[in-house]
Amino acid sequence: MAHLMENFARPEKTEEVVTYGSLDPSVQELLLAASEVRQRAYVPYSGFKVGSAFRATATNQIFTGCNVENAAFTPCSCAERTALAKAVSEGATEFSVGAVLAYEPDAFTTPCGVCRQFIREFATSDIPIYIAQAIDERIANKEEPLRSDDPVLCTSIFNLLPSSFRTYKK
Ligand SMILES: [Zn+2]
Repeated sequence: MAHLMENFARPEKTEEVVTYGSLDPSVQELLLAASEVRQRAYVPYSGFKVGSAFRATATNQIFTGCNVENAAFTPCSCAERTALAKAVSEGATEFSVGAVLAYEPDAFTTPCGVCRQFIREFATSDIPIYIAQAIDERIANKEEPLRSDDPVLCTSIFNLLPSSFRTYKK
């Protein structure tokens, strides 16, 4: 019966906090793209801006998304789902890496449960997800949004959503 466990999503990567400056330039580029799109977040109700970016495996293209709120509250879209819906509608369905940026003073803002499942749909293996804090004062002052010693959480979709639901029909 062990075979029933073989396709279970188990983390293949270890979570750690590193500095922005230590990241590969391609990951820094992804975080900067998430920072830029975050400025377009449509958040008249919460004021909580989130930006996200995913890199398509086949083309290396970056797809970005911000959160989009609604007066009726229920139809809101998170930044991660905005980015992935944009990507899928452009023909990309496999991603090598993702990034999320928001600002909470004492925490990394990780994807919500719905987004974890949404990301999982397009993750055939344990793709890394990088989470950083966005500092709005830097944007206002036209400074670089991320600095070399800023902390970045390196996690992955299987860490965020282990033993996730899948139909395995593909
Ligand atoms: Zn979400």
